[in-house]
Amino acid sequence: MIYFDHNATSPLLPEARQAWLDASERFPGNPSSPHRLGSRADNALNEAREKLAAMLGCHATQIVFTSGATESNNTVLHHAARVAAEEVWVSALEHPCVLEPAQFNFAGRLRLIPATRSGVIDLDWIKDRFKNTTPSLVAVMAANNETGALQPWAEVIQLCRAHSVQFFCDAVQWVGKLPAKGLGECDWLTGSAHKFGGPRGVGFLKVPASLSVTPLLRGGPQEETRRAGTENVPGILAMVAALESREKQIGRLDFQEAEKWREDFERQLSGALPGSEIVAARAPRLWNTVSALMPEADCQQRWVVKLDKLGFAVSTGSACSSGKEEPSYVLNAMGYSAPEAARALRFSAGWETTARDWQALLAALQTVGADVAKPGKFLETQAALE
Ligand code: PLP
Repeated sequence: MIYFDHNATSPLLPEARQAWLDASERFPGNPSSPHRLGSRADNALNEAREKLAAMLGCHATQIVFTSGATESNNTVLHHAARVAAEEVWVSALEHPCVLEPAQFNFAGRLRLIPATRSGVIDLDWIKDRFKNTTPSLVAVMAANNETGALQPWAEVIQLCRAHSVQFFCDAVQWVGKLPAKGLGECDWLTGSAHKFGGPRGVGFLKVPASLSVTPLLRGGPQEETRRAGTENVPGILAMVAALESREKQIGRLDFQEAEKWREDFERQLSGALPGSEIVAARAPRLWNTVSALMPEADCQQRWVVKLDKLGFAVSTGSACSSGKEEPSYVLNAMGYSAPEAARALRFSAGWETTARDWQALLAALQTVGADVAKPGKFLETQAALE
């Protein structure tokens, strides 16, 4: 199977696996326990905290370990809604684990920051609105999971600073693909290990300095009372080992070649599949992600099933539990109609993906394109799906 779904989850790196195994054997104690085994685990945890903070460019005391980005994002909005009376501005492109807690915690106080057709949030909307109001929090992700479009988070930090407003950045898709340094400037920052070769079920939250957090999970003093529950020591050490490894690759600029392969693929796609269209084509994007509208209008699942049969794992872009999904709200926010958005497929490569893999995907898309264009094929694929 050639895997083009790294934005959904990424295989465990050997370094992370080794770190997990070592930590499981070497640190059997609970970091909160008073005996030596406990303090050894606690020391290992703090060393991991220092390393992660150094990579992000913040202080170790600002790092809270969590079960993943869904928990981290929920924590930010849970806290923010309890300490501020003003509204919250959240980009319309955010992951549902930001949008839904924002709706829940800020009912009636949520303003969506619109996006442009390019796949990037509308910075002018923020600038204009700042002339009349100040929210309690502004949330803009670093890179979009569906389109790969990079968001102007560094500019939004400056705007927020000028108005003394806190800035929250979901950096799940950026961390481990582009340099982490600088992200520590965000007041609130979240990340998830399994998106960059760490294990699933572990992530982090960076909080503002000298601020007490209203915890989402209560019932224990862990993480300076900011997140109750025994820390996942092997998972955390494995996450940090994975990020260290990815940061080395990023430092060597290994992604520049990978970006060229993605660009070659995109250039050749419209020739191979007339009627296809690259989404957010003009925006700066992650080197690994292509979102493309397929020429066929009726059912994107057909493409996923057929590509699967040819040995390629791809995604329709948005998470889908039922197999019959809604067209992407991200594409909708960019101004695509529902029938257009229903044609979207997402191809997300990893660090191990090669130029040959991209070319093989192109050939497979051409095969599927020729196949789905044949009359009577729609009913056949529907039957396979049911
Ligand atoms: N934020 C973004 C941008 C994501 O892409 C994802 C996962 O797809 C999440 C948050 C959720 O992360 P986790 O799986 O760690 O809960």
